[in-house]
Amino acid sequence: MKSAKGSGARKPPADSTLRPLDPGTAATAAPGMMVPLSSTSAYIGRFAPSPTGALHFGSLLAALASFLDARANQGSWLLRMEDLDPSREPVGAAEQILDTLESFGLFWDGPVVYQSSRLAEYQKTLSLLAQKGLTYECDCSRQRTRANNGIYDNQCRHRTNPPPADFAIRLQLPDISLCFDDRIQGIYQQHLPSQCGDVVLRRRDGLIAYQLAVVIDDAWQGVTDIVRGFDLIDSTPRQIALQQLLQLPTPRYAHIPVACNINGQKLSKQHFAKALEPQNTAFYLREALGFLGQDISGISRQESTPSLLQRAIERWDIQRVPKLANIPVGQQLG
Ligand SMILES: [Zn+2]
Repeated sequence: MKSAKGSGARKPPADSTLRPLDPGTAATAAPGMMVPLSSTSAYIGRFAPSPTGALHFGSLLAALASFLDARANQGSWLLRMEDLDPSREPVGAAEQILDTLESFGLFWDGPVVYQSSRLAEYQKTLSLLAQKGLTYECDCSRQRTRANNGIYDNQCRHRTNPPPADFAIRLQLPDISLCFDDRIQGIYQQHLPSQCGDVVLRRRDGLIAYQLAVVIDDAWQGVTDIVRGFDLIDSTPRQIALQQLLQLPTPRYAHIPVACNINGQKLSKQHFAKALEPQNTAFYLREALGFLGQDISGISRQESTPSLLQRAIERWDIQRVPKLANIPVGQQLG
């Protein structure tokens, strides 16, 4: 059964004239500046999974929190499939994710955007940044970065001879501290050179990196509000830096705690997180709402999924989400 709102199309229109909803409505506040939601123009939120496997409880949390925040603010909720790495994407995984979202009543607006169809756009931006002299080639090993706590030391910025083959393209980030005001976690600050290092825009294997695609697409889709897991909070300053270099608006950010298993590992395919069972949607929804600190008092256990979701929209209060990096969940969920 579909809600009156209905589900958006799964494929872009055949004429491929898909346009951003309305970039003019995107938030134009400077990073760190909070704008009361009521005083802004249209809210546009999104959920952007990688189709690397079935949705698990951890991914449901990100989908649900972004959906509830969008609907509680009378906003749109877009769906973007971050399918840039075919080697990690089992056949049918994207369709399965869409089926699961629908079984929860999480119906998106407009057509699903597939990043694999946007490679020419990413390449265009890469060329633009290169023309401005903001990128450079790097063939440093992963071990080098690992030895420096995962932070690249910008070694190739000033090399005179280009690497012979198999190089990544990095963006020269400004030597600044970048700060933003997260709607859940509060002020978050990062010194880009010492806590991040120049960011990869195109990987050594030729694939477009997440950090580039996400910034381009959030702006292209006019996204005003990003609600996602805490594991991405340390990527946010580099994404804001890239938005500023490209003169794109900066959305508002909210980072929810990440669900981890009893061993303290983030729920993920890699750590064998359990796939959500479509017949138990009401159970997972209640668990997810509890995890997100929402008020579920007085809601009967017999409540149906659509009615539970409607109540959750009415009661949504982002300030109740725990200001934590992660929260362990029981074996039934993880
Ligand atoms: Zn290098």
